[in-house]
This record gives sequence, structure tokens and C-alpha cells, in this order.
Amino acid sequence: MASIYILGNFEKEGVHPVKIRVDDVKKKRIDLTEEEPAEHYPSLVDMEAEDGVTFTKPILAEMSAQWEYGHVRVAGKVESAVRLSCSRCLTEYELPLSSEFTIFYTESKGDEMDEEVELSDEELISASYRGDEIDLDPEIAEQVLLEVPYKPLCKESCLGLCPNCGQDLNHGECGCDRGGINLKMAALKKIKIEK
Ligand SMILES: [Zn+2]
Ligand SMILES: [Zn+2]
Repeated sequence: MASIYILGNFEKEGVHPVKIRVDDVKKKRIDLTEEEPAEHYPSLVDMEAEDGVTFTKPILAEMSAQWEYGHVRVAGKVESAVRLSCSRCLTEYELPLSSEFTIFYTESKGDEMDEEVELSDEELISASYRGDEIDLDPEIAEQVLLEVPYKPLCKESCLGLCPNCGQDLNHGECGCDRGGINLKMAALKKIKIEK
């Protein structure tokens, strides 16, 4: 039977890093569920401040940790949602986030923490720990960060704003003469003629 720890941000201003004790994992599999607001994770707070991203749901992380071939294997998923603004038309939209991951934690022998290594399969992540505890919070935040698009698009075919008048071209043509696009059209016409 697996143990279940439910760790939540129930106490005011309480900080509850999700840590697993390696000795416990060696004895039996440990299942964990953590639900925390984005403010719990410093890297997500930075992202909200710098990139205009707003988390609209808490970060839900469900994981199980087990000892395997000399390392701790943590498999699980993270879920949340963000409000983003489209990089082309600036419309705000909400995007659900969901990601599954597997992380192999190996004990770091040296004085310095080893760099996180991405294994060839991008779903598998290698990380290191020191001492007898593993703090899962940095990896939870990292998995969420990876799901937030670098260049958000409200839809793949978003037409963006007219650079002349600022009209949202998804709502129709404004009638401006946009040089760049006309040049492209001219080039296309030329190709057609030359065929
Ligand atoms: Zn858009
Ligand atoms: Zn226009």
C-alpha cells in the first residue's frame, strides 16, 4: 500500500515545500498530491511579473516516488491554467496547462549540485539531490514553466493587428495598404505568371 500525503496551503502564509525523504522511498512507494497557488513558486511569480502571464488556477501536482536502480524515480503530472495575451493580436485568452513528467533523481556526490540533464527522451528528466531529502517544488515549477508558450497565440491562424491602423485583422480587413503583405502577394503573382 502506498502512503498518501496531502500537502496544501491551508495555513495562512504557510510555506510547505514538498519534500520526500529518500529513506522513506527506499522502503515503499510514496504518492503525493500538492495544490498550491502560483505564488508558492518563486519562478512562477517571476514569470507573472515579467511575461504578463496570470495563473488562473492553483498548481495541482500529483506524483509518485519510488526507489529504482539506485535512484529516486518521480512520475506524475502538473495541471493549472494561465491567462495570456496573444503575441499577434493582443487578445487575452485562457490556456489550460497539463503536463506529465518523469524525473530521475540521483544523489550528487560532489560539492556542487549537478546541472539538470535532459535525457534523450524529453519526457525524462534527470536531476540530483543531496542529503536525505528531495525538494520537489523546483521541478514542479519547472514543469509548469515549460508548458507556458513562449509566443502565445490565441489561435494558430491568428492574423494579428494591422501595423498601420491597429485593427484586429481577425475581425476583418481594414483597407490599409500594408507594404509587406502586398509585396508577398506580388511575388506570388509573379511565380504564377512564370509557371
Ligand atoms: Zn491572436
Ligand atoms: Zn489598417
